[in-house]
Amino acid sequence: MPQIIPEHLPKGFTVEDFKTIQQLLEKNVLVSIEAAELGADRGVIPVLCSDGDRMFDVFTHLSDTCTAANFPVRPHLIAYPGAPILLSNHSPRILGARIDTLFIYGIKTGPDMKNIRTIVIVPHWPCGMAKACNLGLIRSIELAVNGGARIERDLQACVRNVVVWLHVDYGEAFMRTYRIDQKKWLRWITDQKHGPAYPEALYLASMPL
Ligand SMILES: [Zn+2]
Repeated sequence: MPQIIPEHLPKGFTVEDFKTIQQLLEKNVLVSIEAAELGADRGVIPVLCSDGDRMFDVFTHLSDTCTAANFPVRPHLIAYPGAPILLSNHSPRILGARIDTLFIYGIKTGPDMKNIRTIVIVPHWPCGMAKACNLGLIRSIELAVNGGARIERDLQACVRNVVVWLHVDYGEAFMRTYRIDQKKWLRWITDQKHGPAYPEALYLASMPL
């Protein structure tokens, strides 16, 4: 991340958000992506926000990561505005509809139809759809991690690996993608005053470290 707070953070990206990301990096909640850990020898199911200003960077990083580990670039793509934060039972409704079940169905077509068993969920910040849903950075990450835990639980028979990344646009063409260490995240969030972790998160937290 930038050494100092950029003078012109993108719209929707506050100084408080910057400090939160800084803390998550210091606590190793956000860590470097190791290509091999994807285990994506048959490809990946990326779950991405449609954001036209960041999609290219997100997708390029993903395909470069797969290539670096000799995995095929074979994306069974789930893309929709805010999709990574709309996978949880606790995600906001869109036009009154619960679309989390629709996305879970779409994700399951990956293993069912293409035998692709690695899912990469990439929430990003700042995200216009998060703002439209009145979700801040922390709650956005929580929903994405929670959605990942739900998929691990509900699709455990057909899914091998669920990874959650965070894409950050610091402005001035400085973008980075990190992996969220889910267990460290859960420990961090339960230490915060932001409210209780969701039940699915507790399911993950109960697993041995
Ligand atoms: Zn977005």
